[in-house]
Amino acid sequence: MKQFQQFVDGVFEDGTSTFESIDPATGKAWAVMPRALRDDVDRAVAAADRNLSDGDWASMTATQRGKLLYRLADLIAANAQHLAELETRDTGKIIRETSAQIAYVADYYRYYAGLADKIQGAHLPIDKPDMEVWLRREPVGVIAAIVPWNSQLFLSAVKIGPALAAGCTMVIKASEEGPAPMLALARLIDEAGFPAGVVNILTGFGDECGAHLTSHPKIDHIAFTGGPQTAKHIIRNSAENLASTSLELGGKSPFVVFEDADLESAANAQVAGIFAASGQSCVAGSRLLVQASIKERFLALLVAKAREITIGDPQDHKTEIGPLCTQKQRDHITQQVELAVVEGAELICGGIVPQGAGFYYPPTIIDCGDVDASTWTTELFGPVLSVRSFNTEEEAVELANDTPYGLASGVFTSNLSRAHRMVRRIRAGIVWVNTYRAVSPIAPFGGFGQSGQGREGGLEAVLDYTRIKTVWLRTSDEPIPDPFVMR
Ligand code: NAD
Repeated sequence: MKQFQQFVDGVFEDGTSTFESIDPATGKAWAVMPRALRDDVDRAVAAADRNLSDGDWASMTATQRGKLLYRLADLIAANAQHLAELETRDTGKIIRETSAQIAYVADYYRYYAGLADKIQGAHLPIDKPDMEVWLRREPVGVIAAIVPWNSQLFLSAVKIGPALAAGCTMVIKASEEGPAPMLALARLIDEAGFPAGVVNILTGFGDECGAHLTSHPKIDHIAFTGGPQTAKHIIRNSAENLASTSLELGGKSPFVVFEDADLESAANAQVAGIFAASGQSCVAGSRLLVQASIKERFLALLVAKAREITIGDPQDHKTEIGPLCTQKQRDHITQQVELAVVEGAELICGGIVPQGAGFYYPPTIIDCGDVDASTWTTELFGPVLSVRSFNTEEEAVELANDTPYGLASGVFTSNLSRAHRMVRRIRAGIVWVNTYRAVSPIAPFGGFGQSGQGREGGLEAVLDYTRIKTVWLRTSDEPIPDPFVMR
């Protein structure tokens, strides 16, 4: 079996304990990963903390930090195929998706590389003639970054890029499911020339490595992506160190199709929204709201497209749906779909676990009618679309917003005024109009409600990694007047 090493203080090491990683396409162990324990976390945090005040990183100019990030971006681009193959092997995500995503990840690093020397403080027009007052925007400190298993290279890029641009140091905990690409990324971070200990990458379990890391007294900010239940643990952990948090959580995103939409285009976008990445996407458009007048026509189009999807080996470029990442995940989806049928929903396509090895699940569509079925309300993180219909725009808005989540949404209409009205009324961090699942380093990304707080991507993201220091400098040579009066 292939052996991977964790990255602590610039050294690649086996770790005192290990665990096996499973290839989801075969269901068999294929690699051995270090299982980071408390001591590993302590050493990694100490290295990150040391780099904040001492050594090359602390004295580096922002422009030099940007150059290192550019170098890392080039290395990622040059090694994109290797990274994509590793991610596909360890998570089951199809090679078509991982290849395209990793090539784009390099651009995320380039965006933050360019931003490094544009993070500015300010000079204040203070209301006292003998004072100069200015604001320094300084790195927030040591970052604990926690990522889930899906898209780890992408979800870590939107943390590493802005954090290093701002001058922070980091300890990253990869997911225990599919961590291989993160440990390969560690090799490129080392090769790019970042000083030892600026970025540390550990692989371990949430309740031991993750819990210790996020409650560690030397952590200043926690950047978390994962499920809302885990986020509650993270917030409790942060009570120990009072670290600030940014939380990118799950979703149950509405995909609204009006009768005046281009149905062919909307159907393709819906396929992208729920079946791409086998639906294992936080922005999955898992709730289809279709206007009643076109429901039958639209569903027929969608079912035909779902049946044409090629399911198979995730390493094959022709494959469109690969296995789910874990057995547990597939069992959960199977149970929820069965429950929805018991609750009165109608299975109109898929829903049957295929025979054979690997954690495969077919593209599935469920007509919920008027039922708030479990698949309609619960984030499944799989290729399962739940459908309900509406008659009026008012009903569409009500159904769309009837969720504690608020990550993404899609609106399909050819009526410009309606599009604007929907944009204003939908409660979600992202509204895609006549498109879906588009991302860019330039555009902030994040949710409302139980989908989280803070933004990744764009200029806003860098603010989470900085803090303001206010500097007061007295310019008068006269002695300080009355010391008992506040100045
Ligand atoms: P998860 O919440 O189970 O795990 C996420 C990470 O948290 C893992 O690295 C895990 O080890 C760690 N963790 C678990 N318990 C912990 C604890 N007590 N302390 C510290 N760390 C702990 O999520 P998952 O199943 O890996 O991923 C799926 C979830 O992630 C879905 O809800 C999905 O929507 C969400 N997600 C959100 C986004 C986004 O940007 N909004 C992107 C991708 C995935």
